[in-house]
Amino acid sequence: MDLRYSDAERAFADEVRNFFQNEYPQDILDKRRRGQSLSKEDLQRSERALSDRGWLAANWPPEYGGTGWNVTEKYLFDEELERAGAPPIVPMGVIYVAPVLYTFGSEEQKRRFLPDILRANTFWAQGYSEPGAGSDLAGLECRADPDGDDYIVNGTKTWTSQAHFADWIFCLVRTSREERKQQGITFLMIDMNTPGVRVEPIITVDGGHHLNTVSFTDVRVPQSNRVGEEGKGWSYAKYLLTHERTSYAHIAGKKEQMRKLEEFARATESGGTALWDDVEFRRRYDAVAVELTTLEFTTLRTLAAVATGGAPGNESSILKVRSTEVAQAITELWVEASGYPGLRAVRDRSQADWNGGPEGAFAPAWPVTAVADYFFTRAQSIYGGTNEIQKNVIAKQVLGLE
Ligand SMILES: Cc1cc2nc3c(=O)[nH]c(=O)nc-3n(C[C@H](O)[C@H](O)[C@H](O)COP(=O)(O)OP(=O)(O)OC[C@H]3O[C@@H](n4cnc5c(N)ncnc54)[C@H](O)[C@@H]3O)c2cc1C
Repeated sequence: MDLRYSDAERAFADEVRNFFQNEYPQDILDKRRRGQSLSKEDLQRSERALSDRGWLAANWPPEYGGTGWNVTEKYLFDEELERAGAPPIVPMGVIYVAPVLYTFGSEEQKRRFLPDILRANTFWAQGYSEPGAGSDLAGLECRADPDGDDYIVNGTKTWTSQAHFADWIFCLVRTSREERKQQGITFLMIDMNTPGVRVEPIITVDGGHHLNTVSFTDVRVPQSNRVGEEGKGWSYAKYLLTHERTSYAHIAGKKEQMRKLEEFARATESGGTALWDDVEFRRRYDAVAVELTTLEFTTLRTLAAVATGGAPGNESSILKVRSTEVAQAITELWVEASGYPGLRAVRDRSQADWNGGPEGAFAPAWPVTAVADYFFTRAQSIYGGTNEIQKNVIAKQVLGLE
């Protein structure tokens, strides 16, 4: 693999950097620097700014409005986005459901849904997990019973990220009971404004509102909102999960966190010497930096394979586990480096207005968010399939062990 960038690639990176410095909404970057949460309107403006440049859907084929970038260009774009401190693209629409739609959806569904996702007119939520079905997802109970041209949906989805922002939710629902529980599951898109849909917040340990419980009581959904065949939803769901698990790496963001951590550790004293000169701290910093480099190469290998061979395979489980471990290790280093100001900030963040944020009143912006990030990053080894489940996939399907 030749990792030297060509002149054209460097020019592309400059163009993207220039866009984030001069054309992208700077108030959104300021909010992020201060550790404040973004509103739906902020996220919409962010995504529209990318969409205006034709840069929102790097993973889509060009015929549907994708960028047509090669692996390196995608990588450089992510690097510049994360270097600028812009929010990552909200994945549920652009990264999760869109590939299912352009791969398995009808022409009518593609025409109806893809342009709105591409213009950030609609935000989506993912309705897979239920109170009794997480790792054992195929045990789901949310029912869709046919009624004329519609289904009537009843049941509960939980841990639903961003459902309070969502206009639509894609759900796995049970349409029949078969011998194997993976059979009889259907992939259904539901308008969140339909009567009978209820969203209730779940506040997480970082003090933020990311998650919700979504319940459906006699919700009428046109059968034309079903993707693909009735009862075949499990295979579409698995296809989506491989895309989802590949999307967690965020290498550029991690490199940026490490760069800022170095900057912070150089400027922070611990017992009369700079934290950066503390041998024990540096040993752990360097160990994480090595892990991050190996993750970067594994990610590049996977992206290169995807570029030539379509959907990522079960190897995406390896990426999910490794990127989670590295993400958690970085947040641990950050908490250690930021110490008391960080802890105090998270206390004040949850007591006061966690949507407003602390405005950097207690410490420089990065350590202010360190503790909240630390807590929320614990969840990464749970969502998208727990690390234990990924290890089962690796053992059975990647290594062929039963
Ligand atoms: C921040 C966050 C965001 C989320 N967002 C969404 C979302 O938008 N949409 C959505 O549908 N879901 C979402 N989830 C739900 C997530 O996918 C589930 O929490 C996850 O699949 C685990 O399911 P569970 O919580 O029911 O835990 P359980 O399945 O009950 O697992 C409990 C523990 O048992 C272990 N375990 C279970 N089975 C096995 C096994 N066979 N072998 C070894 N160990 C096992 C697990 O690893 C875990 O440690 C989110 C979760 C979090 C925390």
